[in-house]
Amino acid sequence: MKTLSGISVSPGIVVGKAFLFVDEKPPIPQYAISSAQVAGEIARFKDAQGKAVAEAQALKIRTEAEMGSAGDRFLDAHLLMLSDPDFTGQVEAKLGELHFNVEWVMYEVIAELVKRLETSQDAYLRERAVDIYDVGKRLLDHLLKRERISLADLSEEVVLVTHNLMPSDTLLMNKRMVKGIAMDVGGKTSHTAILARSFEITAVLGLSEITRHVRGGDTVIVDGNAGAVIVDPDPKTRERYLSSSKEWQKREVRLSTLNELPAETRDGKLISLKANIEVPEETESVLSHGADGIGLYRSEFLFLKPGGFPSEDAQCEAYGQVLDAMGGKAVTIRTLDLGGDKVISELRVHGEKNPILGWRAIRFCLARPDLFKTQLRALLRASVRGDLRIMFPMISGAEELGKALAALEEVRRELRSERIPFREEVPIGIMIEIPSAALTSDILARKVQFFSIGTNDLIQYTIAVDRGNERVAYLYEPFHPGVLRLLRLIIDNAHAMSVPVSMCGEMAGDPLATVALLGLGLDTFSMSAARIPEVKQIIRAVSMSEAEEVVGTIMEMKSSVEIEKYVSGWMHERFEPLAR
Ligand code: PEP
Ligand code: MG
Repeated sequence: MKTLSGISVSPGIVVGKAFLFVDEKPPIPQYAISSAQVAGEIARFKDAQGKAVAEAQALKIRTEAEMGSAGDRFLDAHLLMLSDPDFTGQVEAKLGELHFNVEWVMYEVIAELVKRLETSQDAYLRERAVDIYDVGKRLLDHLLKRERISLADLSEEVVLVTHNLMPSDTLLMNKRMVKGIAMDVGGKTSHTAILARSFEITAVLGLSEITRHVRGGDTVIVDGNAGAVIVDPDPKTRERYLSSSKEWQKREVRLSTLNELPAETRDGKLISLKANIEVPEETESVLSHGADGIGLYRSEFLFLKPGGFPSEDAQCEAYGQVLDAMGGKAVTIRTLDLGGDKVISELRVHGEKNPILGWRAIRFCLARPDLFKTQLRALLRASVRGDLRIMFPMISGAEELGKALAALEEVRRELRSERIPFREEVPIGIMIEIPSAALTSDILARKVQFFSIGTNDLIQYTIAVDRGNERVAYLYEPFHPGVLRLLRLIIDNAHAMSVPVSMCGEMAGDPLATVALLGLGLDTFSMSAARIPEVKQIIRAVSMSEAEEVVGTIMEMKSSVEIEKYVSGWMHERFEPLAR
């Protein structure tokens, strides 16, 4: 028996037989050609390109029929790459220059592109290297007339164990048969993670060397709640996880019965539960989990996609699609939060000494009014399609907020003079995620219609602990008395001005924090959609007076250890073990 830990990207517990998927690159022949043969090699390349395009288009039609538009962006990226004149040009130029066969030349070009992306500072771009690699393999298969191993043919239930999955493999695979995914590489924003969440397949990624420890047919446990994979478990462990898996499935069925019910406390306070999304394709899962709306759409993911910067029209369409899909439910779209850990080379928001404290989010937008105003125009234009709310990230104080609001007013004036319709009364809010904003929330509350607390950053800046550094992760404490005092201050200041308060940081979806947040008076909780039923269950089981009592007690405590112990004990007396 061996236990490996990785990154939990899609929850659940699965015990199953491993299907080891090793889709190795075929050997690539290399032979010299004469100048007279170059044209023939180009023709072979174009033929392979045509076949790969037809294949991707067919896959797109099939994927759309199976899962709506969720797979489109990957296939669109492939189609874009396949018909990219730059790519074709590079292959043709290298053929003329090197005089080797086209398989070898094409793969050299691909390898260079992949290397460039893989060494990028930007995690998102690094993950996109897989798209290029996938396209290269497709072309190679056609050039070598090689049949691909297909996950579409799986006919029994398996846990898929692999080094990495090509996006097209993930789309093609027989999802009914794949019960769990365990992968050497990958993180929370990788393709596999996004798709696993949207198909609700339990997945643990970033396991480093799972493929070295598993043979096809081995029994494997994927614990997507704890982020662990157990290979070849002893009989006792196997039995224990089998029963946890059954419990998990029963719990999911039980929780899904709450989807249509309101998140109302026992004494009648109605709480709004919303979802956080990164890509428009997630709206289906948002609705199926009974969300009241979208509390945070991280719009920067639209800008991180391959294919360059989205135009005003493209942005307007993407925002409009989300509003349409949500059918009148509220959708809060956050303006660009690039910089920090979300860097992008085109915008040169990189190479900073202290990126987390640097040129990011609203600071960056105010310095680039061209980009900021384009996004604001797109947002306002889309506002006629639903209940849009606009939110500014990383506001540090009143002056910065004033500048953002002035830019918005300018855009409103422009649209009015161009007679372009938009909703005048779109509510405007800000993220409260910097301590100075929390401490001046009484001032800020006079200028906006809502707050949304970003605890991911607020905790990072309050405790001075880098949220991405695992060596100081032990200091990242949502129950730190300093954090709780700031939360109380923000909520009290906002409520004094009748401004509603949402929370869209991870803390909002942590079931252990639900009662404390309720007691502090939070109005809206926004979290990843799959978390909603469990948080709702807790809200429906407690009363505000109980929650306020819990808050009264923990506010007197001196450390997060003491607070967490107390809250855990309180929760354990009332509920089944929590999945954190
Ligand atoms: C936050 O900081 O809590 C938040 C929701 O924003 P992000 O995680 O995108 O920084
Ligand atoms: Mg943030």
